Amino acid sequence: MITLENICKIYDRNCVEALRNVSLAVADGDYLSVTGASGSGKSTLMHILGLLDAPTSGRYLLDGQDVSALTSDERAALRGQAIGFIFQSFRLLQDLSALENVALPLAFQGVPERERLARARRLLDAVGLADRAPHRPRELSGGQQQRVAIARALAAGPRVLLADEPTAGLDPAACRDTLALFDRLHADGHTIILITHDPAAAARAARRVTIHAGQLKEEPH
Ligand code: ADP
Repeated sequence: MITLENICKIYDRNCVEALRNVSLAVADGDYLSVTGASGSGKSTLMHILGLLDAPTSGRYLLDGQDVSALTSDERAALRGQAIGFIFQSFRLLQDLSALENVALPLAFQGVPERERLARARRLLDAVGLADRAPHRPRELSGGQQQRVAIARALAAGPRVLLADEPTAGLDPAACRDTLALFDRLHADGHTIILITHDPAAAARAARRVTIHAGQLKEEPH
């Protein structure tokens, strides 16, 4: 589903080669973790995989389409439907309820309001938060906010979930809940790429890759 071929990324500003000849194949339903020290290139990789940035050279095929040379507008359009982002900081809109946050990506896709609220309700139910639907993010615990963010990431039916340090700010119980939810999503057939500092979280994934100074290496399972 995702194929990276000899991806390099050089930031013009400081000539740093943040990714060096990165090749990676991710199949439908894979659960893959990416670990590496600070500055190793994890965010750069996430930005490229998530269609937030383009590589300097190399090819990125998403469902067979070469997306490495898309314009930023074309990337943005594809990103909205193909990628579900989950961040450390949740990035929920504070003035919207949990339900409205989950429904928001569907508004960008032109789904009518009734339908998007119904779908958002089903997604909140699926992450165990049906009873929190009317609450604002600040009225929820960190673990609950992350589950709302995961429901939002699923809303538009993305091809891949891209999670950037999703457990880093959570207490141990919320961390366990979040990882258990990823396990369940994986069992349901979702494709997940988990970027994490936490070796215990990384070990949950079926495939583990590490990144050192911009170079990727798959660890034996
Ligand atoms: P990580 O997420 O593993 O901490 P990054 O992908 O952020 O690593 O960074 C990899 C390298 O690229 C680092 O040397 C970093 O300083 C550099 N870098 C990251 N983003 C930029 C940018 N926007 N402009 C210039 N250099 C950058």
